Amino acid sequence: MATVTSRSLFAALLLSAVSSAQSPADPNRDPAALAVAWQQHAAEYRACCLQTFNIAHALLDTALEDPTWIAAIEDEGPTPGSSGAILPPAIVVDVDETVLDNSPYAARRLASGEGFDPKSWSAWVAERQATAVPGALAFLTEATRRGVTVFYVTNREFADEPATRDNLLRLGFPVPPTEILDVVLTKREREDWGSDKGTRRRHVAASFRIVMLFGDDLGDFLSAVKPTQSPERHTEESLHRHGQDLALDRLARTDEFAAHWGTRWFMLPNPSYGSWFDTLACATLPEGATKLVPDHAAALRTKQIELREPSPAKQD
Ligand SMILES: [Mg+2]
Repeated sequence: MATVTSRSLFAALLLSAVSSAQSPADPNRDPAALAVAWQQHAAEYRACCLQTFNIAHALLDTALEDPTWIAAIEDEGPTPGSSGAILPPAIVVDVDETVLDNSPYAARRLASGEGFDPKSWSAWVAERQATAVPGALAFLTEATRRGVTVFYVTNREFADEPATRDNLLRLGFPVPPTEILDVVLTKREREDWGSDKGTRRRHVAASFRIVMLFGDDLGDFLSAVKPTQSPERHTEESLHRHGQDLALDRLARTDEFAAHWGTRWFMLPNPSYGSWFDTLACATLPEGATKLVPDHAAALRTKQIELREPSPAKQD
């Protein structure tokens, strides 16, 4: 009678993986599923998150004691000649994949063979079942204890703000009642609060000294890092060219602020989605295309590694 060895077990698992290769959620075949599997199961993902919040924790005292320690480039600091009033400290965090883990939503969409869409996303948000990103709760609780106000600058819709607030509160994140201070700043909550978060960072900076920014997307730190898709913008210049230029500009601006990473700006890993992916998808569009459609983004998944061209940014 054959005994089950680790090798035969491995072979059986491999066979099972190959036979289920048609499944849209198979990490062996679908890079999007692989990304979700990494977020949900890899100790390495967890370590990246803990490392990020640990570094911030180690720098918090220094940041709070130094009145010139300013993270947001929209924050111009005290006006010259002003009375010298020191603004209270704040930390600005993004929500999704920065403090809340939405990988169950991504896994569900992969299992059903569907991608992101606003309706199913809103239904997921309403469930209030997102869990905390490792390290986020401990760090923000400690920052609050030291007198820092935490602002959640998110591109969740204004209509989803109550569910977002509930989800954060259930997990124990610091969120004061809206009547005291609205710290959950959603997209379109005000007329000039679009998906670019610069106007919301400026809003916070008017009353607080922003000492640290946390996000999983370059847009959580800088403005104008996402593809512009309006037809007006692309009547003369193709979206393809726009994507290529933007991809290079994003790398150059990341290097321009090299000293901010890990001191004032803290990036969490998100291999599943973000403005990086939209930009690369845009850059691979055929000449003459004026709109990015989901098919283009899906096609990119098999091409993204070939895409990489030498960056003009300084190589280390
Ligand atoms: Mg996010």
